[in-house]
Amino acid sequence: MILVMGGAGYIGSHTVRHLLDNGYDVVVADNLIYGHREAVDERAKFVHADLLDRLSLENLFKNNKIDAVIHFAAFAYVGESVGEPEKYYYNNVIGTVNLLHAMLTHGVKKIVFSSTCATYGEPQYTPIDEKHQQAPINPYGRTKLMIEQIFADYERAYGLEHIALRYFNAAGCSADSKIGESHTPETHLIPLVLQAIGGKRKDIKVFGTDYDTPDGTCIRDYIHVEDLALAHRLAVEKLGTYNGCINLGTGIGTSVKEIITAAEEVSGKKCPTEYAPRRPGDPARLFADNTKAKEILGWQPKYTDIKDIIKTAWDWEINRKY
Ligand code: UDP
Repeated sequence: MILVMGGAGYIGSHTVRHLLDNGYDVVVADNLIYGHREAVDERAKFVHADLLDRLSLENLFKNNKIDAVIHFAAFAYVGESVGEPEKYYYNNVIGTVNLLHAMLTHGVKKIVFSSTCATYGEPQYTPIDEKHQQAPINPYGRTKLMIEQIFADYERAYGLEHIALRYFNAAGCSADSKIGESHTPETHLIPLVLQAIGGKRKDIKVFGTDYDTPDGTCIRDYIHVEDLALAHRLAVEKLGTYNGCINLGTGIGTSVKEIITAAEEVSGKKCPTEYAPRRPGDPARLFADNTKAKEILGWQPKYTDIKDIIKTAWDWEINRKY
């Protein structure tokens, strides 16, 4: 049985469905602070648990025969992490130490972890490979880097088997629109653009049009959430033969203006757009070298056309369930 910590969240809930579709037994644990109970597939067992409540973790491992853990449970708002670092160090770092304690107490040594390209900080070159220096520029990125470092120490001391997946920009929703992206507050570009198109927001503010990129707006690597889900299953299946970190991105860069144009084409509607100043801490371009994911996991993204990714998000946006 696989324990998915944070399985009621955006990427977690898509991974849960993918695991179930591929024959795995799944127990989902979530504190439902940011997660959605409706996002959890009814084929999975659900347990209310919190990383900071060691008794709830202890019970989770006592009551379920867990073979491996996929750990998504984290706070992930970069801006909030700057204003409230304690919240991030407690939940993300201490919470993960608690989870590892419960795992090791019960003889569970396998973990796949949600890391992030935010651990690289300001890019020194692109595409970014896993050898790129790690110098995160905000507390959120630092919590994820610390956890990667904790894994290496636990591997040496306790034989932990670990893979940290460093995501670039997760995007899109399940192809059948059953589950999707729902954050409060929403800060991500694609859902905000679609909400502006759908009239739920006044407009989209483009943060900076004077970057050193072909159209002056920031370039990111948008990877479909179902491609992320697939990579998590492949990573679970690789645990024990490989320890370390793997980038997950398509390797394709798309600018903010290109996202808006693609969303207009997919929806057939105009996006009310305002140009605004740069957002602090945003590098001009970020995209992945995904060679390692292909070589080690045998992973290949199915979604490489940004319009196909946005189409799944638009289908969800116009008929969202939570
Ligand atoms: N962005 C924007 N307007 C918004 C939100 C985001 O122009 O309202 C830009 C942001 O500056 C970045 C890109 O869209 O270049 C992706 O931002 P997002 O917050 O979705 O992801 P991040 O790259 O920060 O993880």
